[in-house]
Amino acid sequence: MNINRLNIAAGVLLAAMCCAVTCTTTGCKQANATSSEVTTHVASNDTSATTSQPLPPLAGDESMPTGARILLTVYPDYVKDYKDGKLMMSDGTSLTYDDGKKKSFVELLDDADPEDMFAFTYDLNSWTPGKMQDAGRSRCEALFKKMYGESASQVSRKLVAVRWPFGQATNSGGVNKNIKTVKFTSVNGANKQLEKVVAELEKHPELHKYLAQSGAFYWRPVRGAKRLSAHSYGMTIDIGVKFSDYWRTQSTNENANIAYRNKYPHAIVEIFEKYGFIWGGRWYHYDTMHFEYRPEILMNAKRVTSSEL
Ligand SMILES: [Zn+2]
Repeated sequence: MNINRLNIAAGVLLAAMCCAVTCTTTGCKQANATSSEVTTHVASNDTSATTSQPLPPLAGDESMPTGARILLTVYPDYVKDYKDGKLMMSDGTSLTYDDGKKKSFVELLDDADPEDMFAFTYDLNSWTPGKMQDAGRSRCEALFKKMYGESASQVSRKLVAVRWPFGQATNSGGVNKNIKTVKFTSVNGANKQLEKVVAELEKHPELHKYLAQSGAFYWRPVRGAKRLSAHSYGMTIDIGVKFSDYWRTQSTNENANIAYRNKYPHAIVEIFEKYGFIWGGRWYHYDTMHFEYRPEILMNAKRVTSSEL
């Protein structure tokens, strides 16, 4: 894993700092932070409106892999410690952080350990994903099941209604404005982060036509694969389906050359990212209606800092 720069969006930072174990200044430097400040996006169009926030302390200490420290920082209710190559979980179990296997691209998706989730770096500097760069598509199923639930019924029990005033997409391409909530997980405070996204989106009427939701929780495998979709965990929402683009309309082969397409305004993406959600439109294998609560991916993102602009 190679983390050149540690950055974090403001909302993620606030969520993570509530419970984060503090580390020494030396420890934070060890995580390759290059600046005492980090630049965070604010809702904007494609301009680089930014605001600086102090760098959050990383949990753990410098003897631990940076990815493990990030997981300790952003998922403090579940990931309690890192010892002898393992993540120590709140239920008393442990998870091997790095299985040591060399993996192909597809294996990184199908058989991800926690370390593999950082195999790609989410690049906030570019709106065009790099070839085979899919930061966030690798999910360690064992870790996510421990947090969000092991089965459809376990995940369901942790879902709560979040206000979503932009309606639900109908099968005929319209919007049902009478449906004003969406079920989302309360695990890791993901519902609270989604509420903050809604509050900001409400201030932008020009974006509302893109925001009809097509649901959040579905316990199901990824199309064309055996692994579970992020929708199985209840921390992912699809919006604006009629404007969406999906890589599989070009090829079902993960190794094929895919031409990038997107019809969503970047202003929507920036609001979601501010609160810890990654966007499927930043993947080489894009899925542009897809937003997923993954604060660890944003904490590890590549971003231009204000001093470099
Ligand atoms: Zn989706």
